[in-house]
Amino acid sequence: MSAAEDPRRLDLDDLRVRAFGERGGAVDDSIPELAEADPDLLGIALVTVDGATRASEQADVKISIQSAVKPFLFALALQDHGSDALDRLGIEPTGEAFDAIKLESGTGRPPNPMVNAGALLTAALVDGDDAEARSRRILAGLSAFAGRDLRVSERIAENEHLLGDRNHALAHLMRAEGTLEVGADDAVAVYARACAVLVDARDLAVMGATLAAGGRNPVTGADVVGAAVARDVISVMATCGVYDGSGRWMRRVGVPAKSSVSGAIVLAAPGVLGAAVVSPPLDAQGTSVRGHAVSAALSEELGLHAFGVPSH
Ligand code: GLU
Repeated sequence: MSAAEDPRRLDLDDLRVRAFGERGGAVDDSIPELAEADPDLLGIALVTVDGATRASEQADVKISIQSAVKPFLFALALQDHGSDALDRLGIEPTGEAFDAIKLESGTGRPPNPMVNAGALLTAALVDGDDAEARSRRILAGLSAFAGRDLRVSERIAENEHLLGDRNHALAHLMRAEGTLEVGADDAVAVYARACAVLVDARDLAVMGATLAAGGRNPVTGADVVGAAVARDVISVMATCGVYDGSGRWMRRVGVPAKSSVSGAIVLAAPGVLGAAVVSPPLDAQGTSVRGHAVSAALSEELGLHAFGVPSH
């Protein structure tokens, strides 16, 4: 049986060695902890919807989740608010950078939940009477997605909060538009803590697999979110997950995904598997260069492209 028929047979260490040929990109320097990342870190993991797990060397090295948290914040907001959350923000791609200071014209809503404006709002929509309660609910929700108790790096959370000037600007703009109902500083603090959750490639692959399995964690068996929520989240990952690189990503990889400035990418192939790649050097759109290459290879070898048809 070939790897294309059985993902468990894929040699992720071989894929990893091949990916070292990709040399471009630069590590993010928005906060000191990201600037200090090891550019040669490369972890790969995949988890099928029936719970089989494969992991490469370094798949257990922890990094901050950063924007790879956005699909899961959207999922928790949808779970807690139902379709009301969908009325509160758009779902259209922007063709702009992740932190563009721009809201939907006419409505003042964030353009989609995969850019910073949207994630500040989805984090604020998660149930909880105050910032602390929302952060607790987010950490518990992310832990359910990952199937283990995750923790926050306090230093990273603090620096994200202190140095995230554009996030503060976006939160104030959404307050001015009446889109954000909680305090601007609280909204940034909760989002910053969510970005500072520590995960590894294995965790992210389980999280992606939980979406791919319709909201049920295939490793723990826990129902984390409903199937309709998982479908909505994956749909928006497909169109908006890689920011202004989403079109290029869909053509080359063809699997819904979310990128992040820590170099993590989480992928969800509905009904098949979740996968993750962690490699810090980024391209101009903030996507991991090696992560992109490994994802394309995974898609090719496992026949995962959403629009591909087996050749005649
Ligand atoms: N912490 C980053 C920010 O909000 C996340 C951005 C990303 O990972 O793309 O600025």
